[in-house]
Amino acid sequence: MLHRRRQKRIILLGSTGSIGRQTLDIVRAFPQDFRIVALSGHSRPDELARQIEEFEPIAAALTNGTVEPPPGPIVRWYRGGNGAERMIREIGADIVLNGIAGAAGLLPSFAALESGKDLALANKETMVMAGEIALDLARRRRRRILPVDSEHSAVYNLLARFPGEPAEIILTASGGAFRDRPLSDLGRVTVEDALRHPTWSMGKKITVDSATMANKALEVMEACRFFGLPPRRVKVVIHPQSCVHALVRAADGALYAHMSRPDMRLPILAALTAPRVAESDFGRLDLENCRLDFSPVDPARYPLLELGYRAAEEGGALPVVFNAANEIAAAAFIEGEISFLDIERVVDGTMTLGWPNLNRSLDDVIFNDNLARRKARAVMSDIRNAR
Ligand code: NDP
Ligand code: MG
Repeated sequence: MLHRRRQKRIILLGSTGSIGRQTLDIVRAFPQDFRIVALSGHSRPDELARQIEEFEPIAAALTNGTVEPPPGPIVRWYRGGNGAERMIREIGADIVLNGIAGAAGLLPSFAALESGKDLALANKETMVMAGEIALDLARRRRRRILPVDSEHSAVYNLLARFPGEPAEIILTASGGAFRDRPLSDLGRVTVEDALRHPTWSMGKKITVDSATMANKALEVMEACRFFGLPPRRVKVVIHPQSCVHALVRAADGALYAHMSRPDMRLPILAALTAPRVAESDFGRLDLENCRLDFSPVDPARYPLLELGYRAAEEGGALPVVFNAANEIAAAAFIEGEISFLDIERVVDGTMTLGWPNLNRSLDDVIFNDNLARRKARAVMSDIRNAR
């Protein structure tokens, strides 16, 4: 691909997850171009050990303090809750790819920017919780934040070639596992049902978030931050085939679409090589055998999307509160503690408690996140006790 170039040194966070493993696929496909200098995992030491053996990084972090590092090849180990941050600060690299799930990815993103590295961001929670603070830090450190989320990668690439200011951007949503279920069934659906995503194979939490559309709500907030647009100029449309990832509407009404096969390796590779477009072959979209359907989002089926817009419009602590309450509720649903429809009840109940307008510093963000988690747990136990 870029043979005479120096290898790009990558610190890969969340290497044991869905984004992490697909990033390693890319490094496998382009060994001359990329080198893994450090990896992080949380609770799967055996998977991490296999990756260390294959990619021979200098360092590895195991962030779940109760899990022992695996035996095997010698690397510099970073253990415990802030292991990833310490590793990022101490290990030299060109770019950090953050594929950690949830709010746990926030501080590692900041460690990457503070230590002068570019940040390829799959962890959308960083942008939802602290997007402006992160972008400001990136500007001051002259580092880039490159979106990995497929819709945002699509918009980023469209805007790079776009004449003038976009009138609006449109994110597509597959509609998740329950797009075609009768509404009256949603009270009875199981975790296994929710984990059957029609087009993408991803981690558990984001797959549940696709079924509720909390994922798209987070992506609306992520897009507002990344592209500096107000929420009313970020639209969502259902597109079951997931071939069009996003569209940009120009001032004259024309729409520009970004299309590819639904394969996360494409946006990951785009983030790792931007602004260059790498020559790659992860399969081409077969236009002659491809249908494209679009339909509006039914608010009765996906009430969390409306709540996400409310959080985006009101701002302050609310995006953090939305994310925290949804993390608590989605995890409880995955554990079988609450029903699918309770997820929205927990998020709504937590958001309506009344929240401060203050979300200016990283300390504010962490304070709001902790408080929102405590309150969401209380709302959740009220809902369960009322049964
Ligand atoms: P997975 O659940 O598959 O993987 C999550 C990764 O994060 C694992 O390596 C896991 O380690 C690690 N991790 C989990 N909890 C913690 C923690 N508390 N501290 C540190 N590390 C932790 O998730 P995905 O790969 O699906 O998603 C990762 C991020 O990317 C999310 O923000 C998601 O929204 C975003 N994203 C994902 C897409 C996808 O296709 N999967 C698409 C677009 C965005 P371990 O497994 O060892 O416990
Ligand atoms: Mg996405």
